[in-house]
Amino acid sequence: MRGEANDDERNQRRRARVAVVGAGAAGLAATRAMMLEGHDVVAFERSRDGCGGTWRYDASAEADALGTDARRRRVHGSMYASLRTNLPREVMGFKEFPFASDKAFDGDARRFCGHSEVRAYLEAYAERFGLDAVTRFGTLVVSVERVKRANEEEENRWSSSWEVTSEDPSGVVRKEMFDAVVVCNGHYSEPRVPEFDGAETWPGERTHSHNYRIPDGFKGKKVLLIGAMASGEDLSREIASVADAVYLSARTWQNPDWAKSTEGIGARGNVYRKPNVKRFEVNGGVEFEDGSVVTDIDACMYCTGYKYRFEFISKDIVSVEDNHVAPLFEHCVSANAPSLSFIGLPWKVVPFPQFELQSIWISRMLSGAVPMPSREEALCGAADLEVTLEPKGDVPRRHAHLLGDAQFEYNDRIAKLAGVDPLGSWRQSMYKKTGLNKRLHPELYRDTSPDDDEELRGAHVEFAAVS
Ligand code: FAD
Repeated sequence: MRGEANDDERNQRRRARVAVVGAGAAGLAATRAMMLEGHDVVAFERSRDGCGGTWRYDASAEADALGTDARRRRVHGSMYASLRTNLPREVMGFKEFPFASDKAFDGDARRFCGHSEVRAYLEAYAERFGLDAVTRFGTLVVSVERVKRANEEEENRWSSSWEVTSEDPSGVVRKEMFDAVVVCNGHYSEPRVPEFDGAETWPGERTHSHNYRIPDGFKGKKVLLIGAMASGEDLSREIASVADAVYLSARTWQNPDWAKSTEGIGARGNVYRKPNVKRFEVNGGVEFEDGSVVTDIDACMYCTGYKYRFEFISKDIVSVEDNHVAPLFEHCVSANAPSLSFIGLPWKVVPFPQFELQSIWISRMLSGAVPMPSREEALCGAADLEVTLEPKGDVPRRHAHLLGDAQFEYNDRIAKLAGVDPLGSWRQSMYKKTGLNKRLHPELYRDTSPDDDEELRGAHVEFAAVS
């Protein structure tokens, strides 16, 4: 994948001491890339149980079902028991470690497999590359503080250092110095709960999908789901299998035809599409933006996504405003201190191969194999994004890191910056065919062929070359 370096070149490269925060898929990719580039890496993972992050299913949920109390005991995972991937495994896996259906890691070789198969795949990746050996499990990063060096303002701003404070499983707090920090703490843990008139006094039960595990609690109920991205769509069908009726409400900008039909859809014909909520009523009803009202709703689940949260980093270095993390170069490198980077911020993307590319780029930038952006370049990159966002531009600020179809160009740019080959074109084509199949067969797409034999052939040629 990367331009091979000879021994002399490798010896001339800088060897940095790098802290990686998190050992989910992003942290694993970052740790692997740092090791491969010859850096001295320590990965910190708060979970005592192992790597995998969000793919490590946790049956427990938070006591605060909406997740709005800042002092609540937090649960990292948002996986629900029945979850199957929404991408075929070939396209989902890392380039360097194929996730092919001829090999099951936890006995589930389906192309759209269950969550424990992905967890087992990530564990196998960690084992294959010896990542656990440099990972401190059960260790929480409490703070990451920048220590400015005398030559800070020089062009090579690689020279900042970082004091990382962590707490190990026995409560021992350690402060250690690193040359660089790669933040991979995930962004599917902190519920985003939009405000609606009357929501606070509404008598029904309100939860966020972060705390959803199984549908049993909705049996025989009238349920409102707000948000129809991947989780909202899937959960509406699962909950409708036990609920009396499910109302799935979404902003119409996503699809102007949304909610035009009043007929129930789904296997039991009891899922009804609704536009955005206008207000919650004190008697248990809900009014929608088209003026329609549904009375006596028992429960409402917000499938409205998540917020980025970096409580361990000072706001002077990176701030989050309406889910826009700034200032960053290419959604990844701090424009204030480029030895601080973030893997995995973009959303509506194929995450693992993108994590891999971002990680290789950072590792090679730290070694000096590829140049670091100048301060001017980094700040201009951040400013270019800023002008597209509201109030100056027309992109809602909370969508600053939404890439969607732009992910492929983005990946190519990152590959170029990293000096490595771009991802194979079969990936984009398989992703698009899957998306189309999903739109045509939302209930069955995981078990019907997306007619992607040619893309599968491309995948297997690539897999044969790396295994
Ligand atoms: P995480 O997996 O969340 O890992 C972050 C890690 O950092 C965790 O292990 C956490 O314990 C650790 N951590 C956090 N803070 C600290 C700290 N201060 N100190 C030490 N450790 C810390 N992606 C797909 O490709 N296909 C899918 O089908 C798919 N479905 C999804 C379904 C759901 C319900 C969700 C929530 C996500 C889904 N995703 C899917 C996206 C998924 O999040 C990514 O695939 C990926 O797993 C994210 O990895 P990550 O490493 O960025 O974050």
